[in-house]
Amino acid sequence: MANFYKDNEDIQFLFRNIDIPGVADAVEEGFKFAKDFDYAPVNLKEATENYDLVLDSIGKLSGDFIWPRSEGIDRQGSHLCEDGNVKYADGIKESINMLAKADVMGFTLPYRFGGLNCPNIIYSIAIEIVSRADASLMNIFGLQGIAETINYFASEEIKQKYLHDFAAGKVTGAMVLTEPDAGSDLQSCKLRAFQSDDGQWYLHGVKRFITNGCGEVLLVLARSEPDRSGGLGLSLFVCDSGPTVHVRRTEDKLGIHGSPTCELFFDNTPCELVGERRRGLAPYVMSLMNGARLGISGQSLGIAEAAYRIARDYAASRKQFGGAIEKLPAVRDLVIDMKIEVETARALLYETSRVVDYDISYTKTLEINPPADKEQLKKVKDASRRYGRYAGMLTPMTKYLSSEMCNRVTYNSIQVLGGSGFMRDYPCERLARDARITTIYEGTSQLQVVAAVRGVCSGTCEKYIAELAEKQYEPQVQDLLAILKANTELLLKAVVYVKEKGVEYMDLHGRELVDTAIAIICGYLFCEQASGKVDIDVETPKSDNGQTKMSMKKRKELLARRYITKNASLIKSLIESIMSGNVSSLEQYDALAGAVPTEK
Ligand SMILES: Cc1cc2nc3c(=O)[nH]c(=O)nc-3n(C[C@H](O)[C@H](O)[C@H](O)COP(=O)(O)OP(=O)(O)OC[C@H]3O[C@@H](n4cnc5c(N)ncnc54)[C@H](O)[C@@H]3O)c2cc1C
Repeated sequence: MANFYKDNEDIQFLFRNIDIPGVADAVEEGFKFAKDFDYAPVNLKEATENYDLVLDSIGKLSGDFIWPRSEGIDRQGSHLCEDGNVKYADGIKESINMLAKADVMGFTLPYRFGGLNCPNIIYSIAIEIVSRADASLMNIFGLQGIAETINYFASEEIKQKYLHDFAAGKVTGAMVLTEPDAGSDLQSCKLRAFQSDDGQWYLHGVKRFITNGCGEVLLVLARSEPDRSGGLGLSLFVCDSGPTVHVRRTEDKLGIHGSPTCELFFDNTPCELVGERRRGLAPYVMSLMNGARLGISGQSLGIAEAAYRIARDYAASRKQFGGAIEKLPAVRDLVIDMKIEVETARALLYETSRVVDYDISYTKTLEINPPADKEQLKKVKDASRRYGRYAGMLTPMTKYLSSEMCNRVTYNSIQVLGGSGFMRDYPCERLARDARITTIYEGTSQLQVVAAVRGVCSGTCEKYIAELAEKQYEPQVQDLLAILKANTELLLKAVVYVKEKGVEYMDLHGRELVDTAIAIICGYLFCEQASGKVDIDVETPKSDNGQTKMSMKKRKELLARRYITKNASLIKSLIESIMSGNVSSLEQYDALAGAVPTEK
């Protein structure tokens, strides 16, 4: 019996130390729902138990049911049939049915639609667990942001029409944004939305690369204002799949074979407007994509966790030169770095999810229930602004860090297994193929850096790091905090330098700035974990003194030490490069990249 929640000691430790009281109180709005819904928690203890139970059931389902089907799903893939329908791999349908039976398809939806009303931080854990079992299934399980977007922005009528079915797992959805000429640049979407004389809206045009485009409910970004170019001409629509929505092809792709990627043709498809006209891209799709970016971070984490586990196990059992390969320094170093990379991304994802939960909660308070007292109102407004800015910076940072990490870890997992890793006998090659998309969809890494670097250079990062520095830490990490403080000073100097040089220079050195900021932030998060309120014992291989258990807090201190000291020298060289004034990429592109190849 496998349980991907209970067998993960890091998740177990973090679940006991993350701010569940704060986020539970925020989403349960003072536990007011208990009087109307018998399954809503009455207090913090019950909320925590509920979260634990939900994650436990997802952990069991993932370990026992989903993971054993993942290889078959990868081999079978999904196919476009002659009648125009898409056939999912068998295991995908079975797993979706099981998730629906477990009542987890409306994870963050309100109770009144049959949802679980869980905070994002719990949803992020669930996504990681499902993705560890099958990354392609997560692409359908993790599309719950579509229902969430309808819940935030659509009329009550549209909510009633769709949300019960989403929560019951009777329908799945698709996020229909990308077009052949509008990928990263969604402002240039052309798909036409028009109204008939009686006011009915219709959609006409092509969308491509749409995950689960064969789903029953489609959320479509379309140009409703033909005379207006750019984002302000775009609105968001919802429609049902049906005879006017044609799947023209499903893509033949490198990984995530269980998740169909469709090209869609809308042939005058009737649809309904979501929210207000012209607000389709900002704020509706931006909000949808920010949620989805956390989802891809969780997906990346799950894939990397699976890959790390295979490598760790193999390194202990494979014998060369008379002993296990994990005795060799180069292999040890690789395995340890994989583990630390996974825990770094998890630390940042949970922290970002927490910040997003507070951001949503404060925004909701201001919209629905603003305090009457002036001072109280100002406090809530300030908090809403602050968390909004932190979420705006941390979300792209997390997506960038987790997805890049996932690619490195799966690649290194193959390396640890040597030739066997390259073969289909082990899942490493599949995990590496599944990993590859994570740095591309929901905004490429380059775009995440563009978004995150604005936060690094605008003062948001400085304020956020100052808040981290003010927290209470235990004495054994004080020397590490001093290193982080010195690194922060270096970062702030580099920010001043970059701002003087202008926006183009900032974008050119964006990755270095964001890498530095992430290394500092995650250093603090590890120190916080090493100072956690609740400790657990974790398994260790029998060491020389015969002990088989160690304190997780002690382990986190060792991890923080390695992470922060190793990064200190890296940060110095990053800062040196940022402050070098090097603009060769801007000025010598043709000479350095060479001419565009032509056949002669
Ligand atoms: C398997 C798969 C599933 C997908 N699922 C969906 C889905 O469900 N719904 C949906 O709407 N879309 C989906 N997409 C589309 C996906 O979001 C886009 O592929 C992605 O946003 C990149 O767009 P593009 O492919 O057109 O690349 P381009 O935008 O052409 O980018 C090409 C390169 O240029 C770089 N670049 C572009 N602009 C900038 C910039 N401003 N600064 C720096 N670098 C830049 C990019 O980083 C990239 O390296 C999916 C794609 C794939 C492959």
